[in-house]
Amino acid sequence: MSTSNFSALRDKWIESVSRVLAKGETVRQQLREELGKFFDLMVQSVETGDPKWLNPVLDEWIEARTQTEVEKLESSLTPLLKQIMTATYELVANMFTPDVSLQIIGAILPIFTHAFEYVTTAETNLYLQNFSDKIKRAQMELERLDKSKSDFISVAAHELKTPLTLIEGYSAMLKEQMKSETENENTALLLKGIENGTKRLREIIDDMIDVSMIDNNLLSLNFQPVWIRQILTLVVEEMNDAAINRNINLIMNKFEGSDEMTFGDPNRLYQAFRNIIQNAIKFTPDGGTISIDGRLLPGFVEVTITDTGIGIAPEDHERIFEKFGRIGSVEHHSSGKVKFKGGGPGLGLPITKGIIEAHGGAIWVESEGYDEVRCPGSTFHVLLPIQKTPPDEKIAKLFEPLAQPSTEDMSDRKHA
Ligand code: ADP
Repeated sequence: MSTSNFSALRDKWIESVSRVLAKGETVRQQLREELGKFFDLMVQSVETGDPKWLNPVLDEWIEARTQTEVEKLESSLTPLLKQIMTATYELVANMFTPDVSLQIIGAILPIFTHAFEYVTTAETNLYLQNFSDKIKRAQMELERLDKSKSDFISVAAHELKTPLTLIEGYSAMLKEQMKSETENENTALLLKGIENGTKRLREIIDDMIDVSMIDNNLLSLNFQPVWIRQILTLVVEEMNDAAINRNINLIMNKFEGSDEMTFGDPNRLYQAFRNIIQNAIKFTPDGGTISIDGRLLPGFVEVTITDTGIGIAPEDHERIFEKFGRIGSVEHHSSGKVKFKGGGPGLGLPITKGIIEAHGGAIWVESEGYDEVRCPGSTFHVLLPIQKTPPDEKIAKLFEPLAQPSTEDMSDRKHA
């Protein structure tokens, strides 16, 4: 195809395409330069048979789009290219004989096809980049909010601790004084009320401190040899009265793995299992059953706590482990540790999760759903790794004889 056809076309093409694309003369002038570049590269592409010659000008046009246009997914270049293509076809058809027109159109068609593909891919990438930037920004904002929430909890907890200690001290002194003076039943009752209130407040503040320690990775564990069965037995003993009061059958089964020695923090593990069992009592109606069971898995021991309570909706299975993750659909009653649906601040499970994870374990819940009439129940699973040596070298040295089978054991085994 003769290049002279394109030379004859150039000025008229720029004129008519700029007229189609822009209204004002000033804008048109700027556009003419850009269109000139486009036209020349289009001709270059036809001559070489390589449509990629057009890429630099397409890149410039894509980049020229403002951030706002990209964010609103506006002003895609595809309609613009379509307008250029239609205007080109019309002009060519008017200027040349049908044969020549067909030749020219046949030559530029692959160039436009490439331009459409190129622009669509580049714009999709731009949108994706824009979305991922937005997600990153939102994530950073969430992290910032979470950090200020945890900073607030930590500051509030420490600030509340001092006046609370004062109240506890003064009420203890008052109690002492009361004992020496004449017994006054009414005042003793009032004092008991203050004592209960301060005790509950201390528990909440301690929970707040635990949560902020877990959030900031400051929870330090005191590794010692522990036996899961011992810990569970102690929790069951503590909870037994509450269960009896609520006519709840609290059953502890002996399971394989419960007598395995493992290194862990007994106080923290006790706290974790107490939270789960306390919740099981709280969310099980009177007359229900809670059973503690488990099994030995390679390298792990799994404990399950199953209740016949109100259950948990699947969409809340993860949320309950987040701080303040109380479920909106469950109507909590006034604060109470073991009362049916007794309310709490929603820190128990996040702390439990933090403790279990700090031991290298995992916790999750299984429940068909939330139904206060049918009571489908919930099963909390706790997976703990069996650690035969503590992570701390000094402690490992201290407990060395326990971690390795003694020579006596070995000789026993030999005889067996
Ligand atoms: P709190 O008990 O202080 O509300 P938790 O973090 O211990 O906070 O528990 C969060 C929420 O998870 C509870 O408010 C309750 O809605 C739900 N939940 C926990 N354990 C159970 C359970 N065994 N059965 C039903 N719901 C439960």
